[in-house]
Amino acid sequence: MKKSLVMKVRESLTTHAQMKIEQSLVDFRNAVNDWIRISINNGWITTRTLQKFGYKQLREKYSNLYSAVLLEAMDVAIGILKSAKSKGIVPEFDADVICFKNQHYKLHSSRVIVPLCGEKTYIPLYIPKKFRKYLANYKLGRLTIFKRDDWYYISISVKIEPPERKVTNVIGVDLGVYNFVVVADAKGRELLRISGKDIIERKKLLEYKYSVKQQRARRYSKNRVIGHKYKNYSKYVNHCIAKKVVEIAKKYNAMVVLENLKRIRGKSKSLRRLFRKWPYFDLIQKIEYKAKENGIPVVKINPRNTSKTCSRCGYVDRKLKNERIFVCPKCGLRIDRDLNGAINIARKVVPPPPYLRA
Ligand SMILES: [Zn+2]
Repeated sequence: MKKSLVMKVRESLTTHAQMKIEQSLVDFRNAVNDWIRISINNGWITTRTLQKFGYKQLREKYSNLYSAVLLEAMDVAIGILKSAKSKGIVPEFDADVICFKNQHYKLHSSRVIVPLCGEKTYIPLYIPKKFRKYLANYKLGRLTIFKRDDWYYISISVKIEPPERKVTNVIGVDLGVYNFVVVADAKGRELLRISGKDIIERKKLLEYKYSVKQQRARRYSKNRVIGHKYKNYSKYVNHCIAKKVVEIAKKYNAMVVLENLKRIRGKSKSLRRLFRKWPYFDLIQKIEYKAKENGIPVVKINPRNTSKTCSRCGYVDRKLKNERIFVCPKCGLRIDRDLNGAINIARKVVPPPPYLRA
């Protein structure tokens, strides 16, 4: 599994190094466009045999680019040509990026060394504390320098090998508006509950605070950055929830069962309303990603009837509306609706142990 670590280049970058980056971005862009042109002139070649047709010529033209970087440019060109929709229009590459393979750069404590314009170039970086463990423990892949908002960033991809984990339990995650998340295991124990009301209210408050702050910031300076916690509260909360769910899974050696909301998306009115209120899809993705990173298996199930089924006797109450408490007409079980849902979700994967069956 791959993860991209994006880091900002420090302002202490020397002017000389900055000029070399600028020159390299231009050279790389031109090289990609030259590769595209050569491919088209030779009958739209989209394999690496393209190298035969233009390497010598471009090697001379772009003597400042490392030969491996020139081949990276070719790969980018091939990618563009493959995804080009019609062969009538010549596609053009206009991004500010340049790529290096892992054997061509070196990472030190707070800087990278890359060959630019035929010279070793030191690029100072802000490396967040949480990235250090990835950079130290995993195999580093491709490095990309790119420009965004008039400044430079470096992205390094790392290959993560999740730890092996023996799974002995199952936890189900029920998502909703009233209760944001309820997590339960197949035995019926409630392990986590996050109320939706608090979060939606806090979101509104933070969005208001953010708009006020931003207005104030604009008045005094053009480029003040306001923390991501304000800017994107819902994604930040999703991150925290996902972390918590994965912690629970780790603690109970459990696999995670999620609702496959994608499948039924757009079908029911109430569900569409739910998606407008909160980025649930993002939350599901975050839980999946963090779980996989920790070697925890994730299963997505069809959530059909999970909230209408009695978690004790299995009776399906099709008349159920929006009651918060599920009362089973057959066995009389009274249980919180979302907890009931979470238990049923967990049990969709492994049949309940014999002592729990009716
Ligand atoms: Zn029942």
